[in-house]
Amino acid sequence: MTADATSIFTKIVNREIPADILFENDRLIAIRDIAPQAPVHLLVIPKSTEFANVTELGLGDPALLAEIVATAHNLATLHSNGEYRLVFNTGGTAGQTVFHVHAHVLSGGLEEHTLA
Ligand code: ADP
Repeated sequence: MTADATSIFTKIVNREIPADILFENDRLIAIRDIAPQAPVHLLVIPKSTEFANVTELGLGDPALLAEIVATAHNLATLHSNGEYRLVFNTGGTAGQTVFHVHAHVLSGGLEEHTLA
């Protein structure tokens, strides 16, 4: 499957809609989530429209997946205490709503939250 080439994240990359952009290079962009689920809630998003989810990304471009993880660490260190939860919702029944792969970086005050 190919990611949605007209996804909201591609529109953000193309500056067609605004976002709070924290980091960008030629391969990825990082923004603040518009509906934060944690004190710090960032999204790290490959610019490529090739990959709908993390499974496809890991098989198709593992170096880019590694770069997302490294970027998540760097941003959690800059914007929080360097400790973070990294979430890739994969598939609609798992809560994915935007089918353009993206990592949720959640940090700060998560001690009381446990994974179901
Ligand atoms: P879910 O909506 O269930 O979290 P996803 O894992 O697909 O599903 O995540 C999409 C994320 O994108 C959501 O956390 C949502 O708040 C965020 N989002 C949607 N539109 C924007 C936007 N314009 N700017 C920043 N974040 C956005």
